Amino acid sequence: MTDSSPAVPATRPPLGCAALLMEVLRGELRERELPFTHQREAIARLLFESQRNYSADEVAAELRERGERLGKATIYRTLALLVELGLATEHDFDEGFKRYQVQLGAARHDHLICTECGRVFPFDHPDVDRALAAVAEDAGFAPITRHIKLFGTCNECT
Ligand SMILES: [Zn+2]
Repeated sequence: MTDSSPAVPATRPPLGCAALLMEVLRGELRERELPFTHQREAIARLLFESQRNYSADEVAAELRERGERLGKATIYRTLALLVELGLATEHDFDEGFKRYQVQLGAARHDHLICTECGRVFPFDHPDVDRALAAVAEDAGFAPITRHIKLFGTCNECT
C-alpha cells in the first residue's frame, strides 16, 4: 500500500550513512588511541541508525532488547565521547536528563598526511567549511560527513 500522507519526516538516515559514520568513529578513536570496543560500537550504531533522540536510559533499554547489557557509566561516557567527536548532539528538554542524537552534516575528518613519515595531522579551517557548504548548497546536496586527505611532506620531512 502506498502512503499518500504529506511529508512525514524521515526517521532514518539514508542507507549507508550509519556505516560511514562508523568509519569516521573508528578513525577518530584510532587517532586518539582509544579502543573501538564492542560497547562503543553498539551505542554508536544505535544512534547512527536512527535520527531520534535517546536518553541514556533508553539507550540501555534498547540495547538490552538486542541482548546487550551495558553499564550506565559506559553509556554516559560513550555518549559524551560521541558529542566530543562531533558525531552526536546533546539536548536538554528540561526533563532532568539529557538526550542524544546523531549529528548529521557536521562530522568532519580532515587530515594532512605525510607520505614520508606517515604522520597524520588533523586540520580544521573555517574557509574550507565555508567553501564546502557553498558547494553543497549550489548542488542542493545535504552533507552527512566528509573526509579530506591532503597528501604531501610535513615540515620535518621536506
Ligand atoms: Zn613527515
